[in-house]
Amino acid sequence: MSDAFSSAHPLLVTVIPGDGIGPEVVCATQRVIEATGVPIAWEECEAGMSVFRKGLASGVPRETIASISKTRVVLKGPLETPVGFGEKSANVTLRKLFETYGNLRPVREFPGVVTPFSGRGVDLVVVRENIEDLYAGIEHMQTPSVAQCLKLISRKGCEKIARLAFEVARADGRKSVHCVTKSNIMKLTEGLLKRTFEEVAQEYPDIEAHHLIVDNCAHQLVRRPEMFEVLVTTNMNGDILSDLTSGLIGGLGFAPSANLGSEVAIFEAVHGSAPKYAGKNVCNPTALILTGAMMLRFLGYIHEATEIEHAVLVTLEAGIQTRDIAGDAKAVSTTAYTDAIIENLGKHSSQGYVRDYKPIILPTLPPSSSSITVKSRRDIGADIFVEAPLTPEELGQSLTEMTVELPIHLKMVSNRGTKVYPPTGAMTDCIDHWRCRFLLNDASSTLDNDLLFEMLRRISSRYRWMHIEKLPEFDGQSGFTRAQGEDEK
Ligand code: NAP
Repeated sequence: MSDAFSSAHPLLVTVIPGDGIGPEVVCATQRVIEATGVPIAWEECEAGMSVFRKGLASGVPRETIASISKTRVVLKGPLETPVGFGEKSANVTLRKLFETYGNLRPVREFPGVVTPFSGRGVDLVVVRENIEDLYAGIEHMQTPSVAQCLKLISRKGCEKIARLAFEVARADGRKSVHCVTKSNIMKLTEGLLKRTFEEVAQEYPDIEAHHLIVDNCAHQLVRRPEMFEVLVTTNMNGDILSDLTSGLIGGLGFAPSANLGSEVAIFEAVHGSAPKYAGKNVCNPTALILTGAMMLRFLGYIHEATEIEHAVLVTLEAGIQTRDIAGDAKAVSTTAYTDAIIENLGKHSSQGYVRDYKPIILPTLPPSSSSITVKSRRDIGADIFVEAPLTPEELGQSLTEMTVELPIHLKMVSNRGTKVYPPTGAMTDCIDHWRCRFLLNDASSTLDNDLLFEMLRRISSRYRWMHIEKLPEFDGQSGFTRAQGEDEK
């Protein structure tokens, strides 16, 4: 447990029952934790649908934020996210508010839970970056028909998550970490995690470091899941891959998770509110019960956490199972399953093992890691995004004429990433959204704002521009990518 977290007795923990099946799985988890004898005082708080209905757009009321700021540890049920109207996800709000940058999603094979992968020894943890990437949720309708979502990845975010992954490997006694990215396509954003991971790996010579492209990783997870121990990846990759890994071991009902930050830790299952099972006493509480074990371990109650894991294994071995795996005829209710786990506390599994976990050492980075100092930087041009109902030739010629006597020229125009002017022969089905790349005529100078404003003044006299990006070079290295076909002769 990090020093930032309270060691008061009893431990004060914020509990959010949540939506749908949330109250049932949270109640089951509280009962199991209480049965271990760990002295926890729960502070119950609201978030999610009930809060959205009261008109609070964040889904997280002030009282809940105050409680978490005080307790710094949260046991949370799933929160429903309204689809298709204004509100943000309350889950994402909580993760961002408390900067819980690392999401650990372990999965393991369970005795008695038969899947196509039984006997393969699946036992891995997905370490998902939890704050950045497309989940920063910075979206714009750039034209009435074109939407944009910014994928923001920082060096600091990459370093924190890469270090966390190696620390998780050490704490769990695992030997390897696979970094999983789409850096073959997104060379700057996804590539930043790959490059940072490779640097950080030098400091963990005891752990094997590998890299895989995410699509191949999905393939390998199904073909050879036993080859993986720790996967570290960006937010969206991690979101998708961790549902896949849950599927390998019996489904979302068995997948626990922890959102870790330097100040606050939020423990929740991977699954959502499964509304169709709400209030029916049929859902599988294992995911949150194992999440509760992760929370106890994090709080320093390693023995009690181990006892919970064993009790779950013993219960499953005995064939006591909920509807999701046993089917309607043989299933026991959520409460009966929880009762069995409580009865089995103190018994040890004969078929399954429980890892000899050590506390995770959360990485601390110096404040200087927020930015990188470079010796030289300059902007060699700009991409100006415009909306215009023209052909590529009409737009290209018009922009060339407009800037003819300025110290900058139109290098190319692309449409959804493919160069269309000067023409390349690409069969692009153009829409009215164009990225127009201008480069300075003097390759050794830097773009000044007066020139940029003059270009914008001229362009906006004919077209609507909606976005602009400078084209930087840092220490002589290009800070932008080329369009498809841009530099082909
Ligand atoms: P979901 O609630 O995870 O449910 C998907 C399916 O997974 C269920 O229909 C059920 O499968 C199975 N399942 C999930 N948890 C289970 C459990 N404990 N026991 C047995 N089966 C379980 O995903 P969703 O339907 O996409 O999302 C519902 C709502 O939850 C949405 O509003 C979503 O935004 C929200 N959500 C919240 C969180 C969170 O709070 N962290 C995470 C994900 C989603 P079968 O239909 O096959 O029986």
